[in-house]
Amino acid sequence: MARYSGPVCKLCRREAMKLFLKGERCYSEKCSFTRRPYPPGQHGQARVKLSEYAIRLREKQKVRRIYGVLERQFQKYYFDATRRKGRTGEQMLGLLESRFDNAVHRLGFAFTRAQARQLVRHGHFTVNGKRVDIPSYVLRAGDKIEVRTKSREIKEIIASLAQVDKRPQLSWLELDKANFAGTFKGAPVREEMNEPAIREQYVVEYYSR
Ligand code: SF4
Repeated sequence: MARYSGPVCKLCRREAMKLFLKGERCYSEKCSFTRRPYPPGQHGQARVKLSEYAIRLREKQKVRRIYGVLERQFQKYYFDATRRKGRTGEQMLGLLESRFDNAVHRLGFAFTRAQARQLVRHGHFTVNGKRVDIPSYVLRAGDKIEVRTKSREIKEIIASLAQVDKRPQLSWLELDKANFAGTFKGAPVREEMNEPAIREQYVVEYYSR
C-alpha cells in the first residue's frame, strides 16, 4: 500500500495553511509554516495570482493531504460519493472520515493520521473484536475500535491519549479512554465537522470540470 513519504511541512507551506501533519511540532515554534509562511522553492515568495483552475486544484490537494490519501484512492472516494444520495462534497468527506486510520487519530490514539496509519498497519487495533490492519478500512455506524491488550503499553498511544482532553470532542466518535476503546457512531454530517478551511465544493468542481 503506497503512501506519501516526502517532507510534509512543505505540503503545509504549499497549501498556505497548517495541515497539522507532524503532531506536537505543529503546535510549537518549530513549525515550518510559522517560520516560513510561503510556498517552498526558489519562487516561493513571488506574488502569483491563482487561476480558477489552480484554486480548485489546490483545494483538492489540500483535502487529499489532510487525510493522507494518494490521488487514485482519493478519486475513488469522489466517484463513490457521486453515486450516493446528497451533496457529493459532503458524502466524500463522510467517506474520508469513515476511514479507520482517521478514526484512530480522531479518537486520540495517535497524534497524526500518519502515525495512526502506521499503528494500524502494525496490527495494534481491533474492530468489533477482530484485528484489522488496513488503514483505509471503511467503518460502519456502531463499530467498536479497541487497542489490543498487548499494545496498550505502546508509548505513542499512551502519550497521545494523555493529550486527548485538549482536543475538541467530536459528536460522531465516543472514546472510552480507561478501556482503550472507542465507538464510531456513523459518518458525520457537514455541520458536525468543524473544518471551515475545507471547501469541498471546489474539489467537486475540480473533478467535474
Ligand atoms: Fe505543517 Fe507546521 Fe506541522 Fe510542519 S510543523 S506539518 S508546517 S503544521
